Amino acid sequence: MDAATAATATAAAAALVWFRKGLRVHDNPALDAARRSAARVYPVFVLDPRYLRPDPAAPSPGSAHAGVARVRFLLESLLDLDARLRCLGSRLLVLRARDDVSDAVCAALKDWNIGKLCFESDTEPYALARDKRVTDFAAASGIEVFSPVSHTLFDPAEIIEKNGGRPPLTYQSFVATAGEPPKPVMEEYSVLPPIGDTGGYELLPVPKLEELGYGDLSQEYIPPFRGGETEALKRMRESLQDKEWVAKFEKPKGDPSAFVKPATTVLSPYLKFGCLSVRYFYHCIQDVYRSAKTHTKPPVSLAGQLLWRDFFYTVSLGTPNFDHMEGNPICKQIPWRESEELFVAWRDGRTGYPWIDAIMIQLRKWGWMHHLARHSVACFLTRGDLYIHWEQGRDVFERLLIDSDWAINNGNWLWLSCSSFFYQYHRIYSPISFGKKYDPNGDYIRHFIPVLKDMPKEYIYEPWTAPLSVQEKARCIVGKDYPKPVVDHEAASKGCRRRMGEAYASNRLGGSTVKGNSSNSSRRKLCHGGQDVPDSSKSKQPRKRS
Ligand SMILES: Cc1cc2nc3c(=O)[nH]c(=O)nc-3n(C[C@H](O)[C@H](O)[C@H](O)COP(=O)(O)OP(=O)(O)OC[C@H]3O[C@@H](n4cnc5c(N)ncnc54)[C@H](O)[C@@H]3O)c2cc1C
Repeated sequence: MDAATAATATAAAAALVWFRKGLRVHDNPALDAARRSAARVYPVFVLDPRYLRPDPAAPSPGSAHAGVARVRFLLESLLDLDARLRCLGSRLLVLRARDDVSDAVCAALKDWNIGKLCFESDTEPYALARDKRVTDFAAASGIEVFSPVSHTLFDPAEIIEKNGGRPPLTYQSFVATAGEPPKPVMEEYSVLPPIGDTGGYELLPVPKLEELGYGDLSQEYIPPFRGGETEALKRMRESLQDKEWVAKFEKPKGDPSAFVKPATTVLSPYLKFGCLSVRYFYHCIQDVYRSAKTHTKPPVSLAGQLLWRDFFYTVSLGTPNFDHMEGNPICKQIPWRESEELFVAWRDGRTGYPWIDAIMIQLRKWGWMHHLARHSVACFLTRGDLYIHWEQGRDVFERLLIDSDWAINNGNWLWLSCSSFFYQYHRIYSPISFGKKYDPNGDYIRHFIPVLKDMPKEYIYEPWTAPLSVQEKARCIVGKDYPKPVVDHEAASKGCRRRMGEAYASNRLGGSTVKGNSSNSSRRKLCHGGQDVPDSSKSKQPRKRS
């Protein structure tokens, strides 16, 4: 064997598995391909300092890009992945990028003489740009690349192609085009090929939060959901154990105020980081359905929720400027107003509406809220009360959610702000009666806003209406211990409806490409997740904040 052939043989013997999302061993086609094709496998995760470094100027603990709850969740997921790889005789090689993650990957490919690079395909714009830098380097270096789709049920690009080059813009057309998803790759194995020589690389253990510079964090910022594949599988099995619950799951019927035992699976953070394979989850749900006499159907069923996820992935891939109003062909152009004061009150949970504020505090502390709770605050910020741009709300969610997901988050903000997909702008969530319907005693509010914990239930949703003597007894004076409402809901929502009507009219005149408007789409019964957005209800009038 000459020197060149020997070098190629050595290179082909080494594969690098680049973990980003997909932080799991089960149903991991990239890992599977690497272990089958190479004598040595390097499982790598690159820490991105820009994502992890604490930002003291941020409005709540965390980095500029991620709240601390999500940073913690990621570190827990990496620790668990490392432990699971060690059970297979391998380990996670944690590298730290100096600046750009792709540079660190390219350097490792070169230094370790890698012949095959395997990573899960990712359709987010940031990921596409990052991955292109790496695949360009691999192509120039003669490194084989294998990048399977395993973060979604379907391949979004394939669905767009099947649909004539355009993404299906309704759930129904998406489901009709998609068909049945591929089965998960669940072959069990007990050992992975060994890691090769890592040269002079400093191989780091998964860092602790404190090592990243997060000092004295209050216990409040520890959400009740631990990251990792082990926890994901346990949580999924627990959810699916109650077969009747799964068979009868109907998204509109969940209680958004349930926080001790949430009304839905809380598997979204595990799907976001890929600790749980969505295909495995989907197929386990199908197993439950097979054993049930009857079960609910998409869009309201549990399997239907996973199809929503894929729907947004597909539309986001096929829509230019999906994360913006301007230049986005499916987004209504709406002249949202600018108000830093109102926006900050919303972001920081100080609107004076306890239902809204409790949800925003749950977001800041836990990084997770029920879907209908997200509806409430998204509607309130945009077309319901404050008339502030959905992109501002999207940014807050993007930073703070532990399940923060580019396609799903943007898709849902487009939906809730009646900018796309859903156009019944006259249907507005009441920040008072909607929560009260589920939780008349206000336990959810009392938990997340302790200053209101002694407010009598008659006033817990509208504390500004409590007589001063009641406020004194509850040790909560509105305007001092808890804010007065930032807007009068009745007046604000009326103004929003009028402005939305005007904006829709000018979109029609301007020849907006968006199909559907308030009059024709009001015939549609079905809303997002299957839920019908409730009409706002009459409530006592708050005074405007002085
Ligand atoms: C304004 C707004 C922003 C949102 N941002 C995100 C986000 O960044 N990341 C995210 O995962 N979800 C987001 N959602 C969708 C939804 O609220 C969450 O997926 C859901 O609440 C997660 O809880 P769960 O896992 O218990 O859901 P379950 O009801 O148990 O559903 C199971 C899975 O289905 C998927 N799913 C459920 N509802 C939706 C939906 N409406 N759209 C797409 N997929 C769905 C999720 O992956 C979820 O984990 C957003 C919703 C709104 C209204």
